[in-house]
Amino acid sequence: MYKYFDAHCHYSYLKKNYEGYLIAAVSMDYQSAIDTLSLKRENVLVGVGIHPWRVHEEDLTRVLPLISKADFVGEVGLDYRFSKAPKELQIKYFEEQIKAGEGKLINVHALDAWEDALNILVKYDVKRAIFHWYTGPSSLLKDIEGAGYFISINPSVTFQKKHQDVLRNADLRFILTESDGGYEYRGKLLEPSDIPNAISFMSSFLGIEEQKLIKSVSDNFYKAYGLNVVNS
Ligand SMILES: [Zn+2]
Repeated sequence: MYKYFDAHCHYSYLKKNYEGYLIAAVSMDYQSAIDTLSLKRENVLVGVGIHPWRVHEEDLTRVLPLISKADFVGEVGLDYRFSKAPKELQIKYFEEQIKAGEGKLINVHALDAWEDALNILVKYDVKRAIFHWYTGPSSLLKDIEGAGYFISINPSVTFQKKHQDVLRNADLRFILTESDGGYEYRGKLLEPSDIPNAISFMSSFLGIEEQKLIKSVSDNFYKAYGLNVVNS
């Protein structure tokens, strides 16, 4: 039914339909959470959360009640490189949103904070999580997989060396694809429609047939998001 799977997309910033894609739409703040919730439909799962870049300017108490309406929590996490918010505040927001989303998947941004984010997820006994656009140390991959979590590979894998190293070292069993659509990276607006090209690249990079790779990503997506498999 679906050919491509976007595990992390700022869909409320894009005004298009993507036929054949199953999309997990993340939000950044209160306003995008409201917009994202309104996008709920058959091929769109909706996430609510305050991004670590917005922590210092967003009211947690406005967003927490929206989490119960969402399919998953995100985009939430920690960012020790770019966020202007103090570490302690980022951790507080991350933890409060995890608690409010008990039982739901957590869609995690953890730039330069990979290990802290993993430890917090484990501390709160989170069962399902995705480390989006994972560029952290390869040594942490086995712990992420061991905890039952996933990583998502962004279309930037076609040129981003660090991301390629991750792809090389990660087991297929916990790899998802994402676009981070709506976000502009190196002057290009990312979109779900960048995923087919990423799949082709990943397929030749790993020496795996495209169909096999897509099947694996599909299985992982359904498992991560706790959905019944309708794809065959
Ligand atoms: Zn994002």
